[in-house]
Amino acid sequence: MSVHLDQRQRAMLAEMGVRVWSPVEEPQVSEVLSAATVTSAPTRSTQAHASTQTTAAQQTVSSVTPPNVPARVAPESPSPVPRQAPPILVQRPEGIDQMDWPTLQHTVSQCQACSLCGTRHNTVFGVGAKAEPAQAPQVDWLIVGEAPGENEDLQGEPFVGQAGQLLDNILSAMGLSRQGEGQGAGVYITNVLKCRPPGNRNPKPEEVAQCLPYLERQVALLQPKIILAMGRFAVQALLRDSLPDVETIPLGKLRGQVHSYQGVPVVVTYHPAYVLRNLPEKAKVWADVCLAMAKMQTQSPR
Ligand code: URA
Repeated sequence: MSVHLDQRQRAMLAEMGVRVWSPVEEPQVSEVLSAATVTSAPTRSTQAHASTQTTAAQQTVSSVTPPNVPARVAPESPSPVPRQAPPILVQRPEGIDQMDWPTLQHTVSQCQACSLCGTRHNTVFGVGAKAEPAQAPQVDWLIVGEAPGENEDLQGEPFVGQAGQLLDNILSAMGLSRQGEGQGAGVYITNVLKCRPPGNRNPKPEEVAQCLPYLERQVALLQPKIILAMGRFAVQALLRDSLPDVETIPLGKLRGQVHSYQGVPVVVTYHPAYVLRNLPEKAKVWADVCLAMAKMQTQSPR
């Protein structure tokens, strides 16, 4: 039999003494898209909460009881187990590379191109300098992190948790702020992923692949003078074209040089959350920030 069970359902089954042996992987976009014919986009509430229907296309995870483990017998009249259907995934729209800022923002808010849409509360597009109506903010600095965490998912704004406080302190030491104020230099803060991976797990390659066009378009519209890439996932996403083996290079070895993404200088540093766990690394982040500020001095005014 093939069923999809999420963690909550597994926990409920465990409470009932039923053990299910199956991988906990979420469906891949390609699996679902190839099997399902999608005619309309469901609302967030239907994706995330209400639906009790599971199509054959969505039943992608198989259950296997290992031979040496006695199978538990299900109760004779099983109480109905509430189901959380996996989201119906929808292709990203074409033409992201032509979108203006409001259209891009709206497209991200509706995105259902990977399974993270089924667990998010909010998409997290970014925050920073104010823009003219229907325009992208023109910023000097673009800060790129990894993905929203719990607080970011709830508030719809990047870097609002503890890591965000450290980032705010770094910006303040640079004479900048997340509202984009400070010494004439606009700042914008965003992430590689616009939706929170459940449990703050690492982004999956297919999630990064689905989300990256949004970041690419943000960079093209924001036209930052410099990008500060914070942490492994930001660095890998931004430098994969210029350094094809970037995934094999320790982040520490990428520091101390100025890289490039879409012609924009990129400085690599550690993620604030990593620094919070390794406080002596703070000095290295400051050294990276100083490198970025020195590079900024060489950039021509707008
Ligand atoms: N970590 C990130 O990379 N981004 C956030 O928005 C929050 C924490």
